[in-house]
Amino acid sequence: MTQVDRSWDIETDLLVIGAGAAGMTAALVGAIEGLQVILCEKSDMVGGTTATSAGTVWIPGSRQGQLGATPDTVGAARTYLAALLGEHAADERLDMFLKAGPAVLEYLELKTSVRFAAPPVHPDYKQLPGAAIGGRALTAVPFDGRKLGGDFARVRPPRREFMVLGGMMVGKADIPALLAPFGNWANFKHVAGLLTRHALDRVRYKRGTRLVMGNALVARLFDSIRRAGVCLRFETALREIVCDGGNIAGAVLSSPTGEVAIRASKGVVLATGGIGWSRELRQRLLPDAARRFSLAPSSNTGDGILAAERVNALIDRDLESPALWMPSSVMTQPDGYVSVFPHIMLDRAKPGLLAVNKSGERFVNEADSYHDFVVAMLGSSASASSATPAFLICDRSFIGQFGIGLVHAGTKRLKGYLRANYLIEGETIGELAQKISIDGEKLAETVERYNRFADTGVDEDFGRGSSLLNRFNGDPLNKPNPCLRRIGPGPYYAVAVWPSDLASSAGLRTDSCARVLSHDGKVLSGLYAVGTDSSSIFRGTYPGPGTMIGPAIVFGWCAAMDAAGVMPDLTASCDLRRER
Ligand SMILES: Cc1cc2nc3c(=O)[nH]c(=O)nc-3n(C[C@H](O)[C@H](O)[C@H](O)COP(=O)(O)OP(=O)(O)OC[C@H]3O[C@@H](n4cnc5c(N)ncnc54)[C@H](O)[C@@H]3O)c2cc1C
Repeated sequence: MTQVDRSWDIETDLLVIGAGAAGMTAALVGAIEGLQVILCEKSDMVGGTTATSAGTVWIPGSRQGQLGATPDTVGAARTYLAALLGEHAADERLDMFLKAGPAVLEYLELKTSVRFAAPPVHPDYKQLPGAAIGGRALTAVPFDGRKLGGDFARVRPPRREFMVLGGMMVGKADIPALLAPFGNWANFKHVAGLLTRHALDRVRYKRGTRLVMGNALVARLFDSIRRAGVCLRFETALREIVCDGGNIAGAVLSSPTGEVAIRASKGVVLATGGIGWSRELRQRLLPDAARRFSLAPSSNTGDGILAAERVNALIDRDLESPALWMPSSVMTQPDGYVSVFPHIMLDRAKPGLLAVNKSGERFVNEADSYHDFVVAMLGSSASASSATPAFLICDRSFIGQFGIGLVHAGTKRLKGYLRANYLIEGETIGELAQKISIDGEKLAETVERYNRFADTGVDEDFGRGSSLLNRFNGDPLNKPNPCLRRIGPGPYYAVAVWPSDLASSAGLRTDSCARVLSHDGKVLSGLYAVGTDSSSIFRGTYPGPGTMIGPAIVFGWCAAMDAAGVMPDLTASCDLRRER
């Protein structure tokens, strides 16, 4: 533990470390509430994992959600969380999240350029009482990156795998038009507009400036912190937290000009993006089979959690899962770049695909959430029928219609993917099985059984297509089940998928104001942890889309309001909502 025995280089009110959704929200709100704020970011860009995400926030009962096609209430969310978490639903942090969430969105909309809207349908991930169809998960409103001027280059770009035409972002809402540009006039107009804008952008910028999803959210937060007067220091990384007696007094950071000690009279907020690539934390906290691939940027290396541990903070491990997962396929590109492609929603639920383990057997409802898919993979990781990696199997027509992983729908030339061993091809099921080293007879049996389910429309083994989420991500035109159709004539294809973490859920134990707790359960005065540096309020479960960034923003707000000494009493507004 670094005690105060040195002079400070800089003094401020609030020191925020890490410029993702959580840190930028805390810095922004601190500045709005009159604090002098320094936000230190290790890399040369803002955004972290948030910039590469879908930018969805799960915040029940918001006004923005009420404007959507299927309004939501806090009461329904409480029912849902009670069904999901049982006795653990009675939790002060969860309660704070539900009470503060709608107020935080109002606050941001009133005082900043952060905006969210509710897509008509964005279902929760579990079919339980109180589950929402829409109105609970909100998406960031697209943003024009040109408004940031030269600072646009400081916004971390999305994952390369998610951009097309050398830097054009594609949002979920763009996909139907892009898949059928000549399908109707509206599609054609939309696609022509996107392409024209992108062509013009590329004359002046390195990538497209029409920002959607996580990039839109980050750009909106960045735009707001610039206006609010936050002092943002790039390439400045937390090294040690400094204590003064029992209190946290500030931190020592490395910067391009050397070490800098910053005293923060109102507090230090840790927002460094959780476990990330930290070898030590991955070893300690993640299961063996899931340590290899992370979807975090390389600058996320567990610094906040490890530094806090050194001042006696506690890592909360009492969770269902230490991380939230996505199955990802991996391909080394011709230029040496290793693409890790998360299979979020474009292929797994579509009819005509199945997933098998090393024994050639299905092991999961492939159309369930990406997290549940990997939980099933990990469940069998130590056995002979291990599903690490698992193989996604389909036929040629599936690739033509839906694409698989990095292979976009309609791709005619598969050679590059086959040469890279990303896509494995077999003229027959037996040949495919042999190439992926699984039993051919077993795989043929599995495909035959799947095809029988496709004929009846009922997956007797895993209930594929039985939930709203399954059907939402399936193909509505496919009957009788939008997620099941026969695997047809060859050639057949396989893509290997591996567990990868999209966010850590094990993190520092905090209270309802995001204050970090020590081993004896006491508040470490002056130290806050938000976003993935704090442990999951949902105990490592994955209730629905946006359940990481939603709490990151809400507790970023709580930390700043608490540090500024202006935390409002939220009871009244909560009661009003319950009566609805
Ligand atoms: C493909 C994908 C899609 C996703 N979609 C969603 C979604 O739609 N909704 C949702 O809720 N979640 C989503 N997630 C998860 C979500 O993106 C993350 O959980 C969330 O963005 C984490 O936010 P954060 O602020 O805690 O960390 P980050 O956004 O990762 O920010 C951490 C920042 O801290 C900086 N940093 C690290 N160490 C230091 C240090 N020592 N000093 C200073 N700075 C440091 C990093 O450089 C980084 O900029 C998705 C994840 C992925 C991979």
